[in-house]
Amino acid sequence: MLNIVIFGPPGAGKGAQSQNIINKYHLIHLSTGDILRTQIALGTPLGIQAKKLMDRGELVPDDIVIGMINYKIENSPNPKGFIFDGFPRTVAQSEALDKLLKGKNTAVSGVISLEVQYNELVKRILNRGKDSGRSDDQDIKIIENRIMVYNEKTTPLIDYYKAQNKYHSINGMGTLDEIFTRISNTIDQLPK
Ligand code: AMP
Repeated sequence: MLNIVIFGPPGAGKGAQSQNIINKYHLIHLSTGDILRTQIALGTPLGIQAKKLMDRGELVPDDIVIGMINYKIENSPNPKGFIFDGFPRTVAQSEALDKLLKGKNTAVSGVISLEVQYNELVKRILNRGKDSGRSDDQDIKIIENRIMVYNEKTTPLIDYYKAQNKYHSINGMGTLDEIFTRISNTIDQLPK
């Protein structure tokens, strides 16, 4: 199986590049942000609880997102592989993902990390907010908090995956096509 973690701060282009990766490599897309937004739209108790945190740019508790990913992995028959988008975001989530995949006799094949300058991140998120209607994409204070939370809680994963020799840094500046060419070149070198 080919299991990719697409990694990077909010606004790095993880969602857009996930679509390109799915089209080319036929992986199953698991975006915890998308799953949470579906729960909010459905008005489930989980969605109501998550919305309060998401509206402030804070992370949803690990056990909730790990449970969601577990459920999706268990309910995906014969996948070629997964692309994890916006997950893991904490070391506890990475450890849980390793365990879940080990239970399926597989592992993370590689982490594709999109490197984008701070000003460009903010610009891209504000632009996306004009169409997405996402309230966390429209308020500069929330956007700044999301990037701060990423720096505090998510960047420790860089060392976690470097220690496993799985971390691949990609220049995330440029056109979508240019960036996808860099990503494909890296994915094609990964062990299947
Ligand atoms: P995203 O769509 O990935 O930008 O996620 C939007 C929001 O959903 C984040 O700011 C968090 O509040 C929440 N979220 C998404 N994925 C996770 C995760 N893996 N762990 C905790 N919270 C998450």
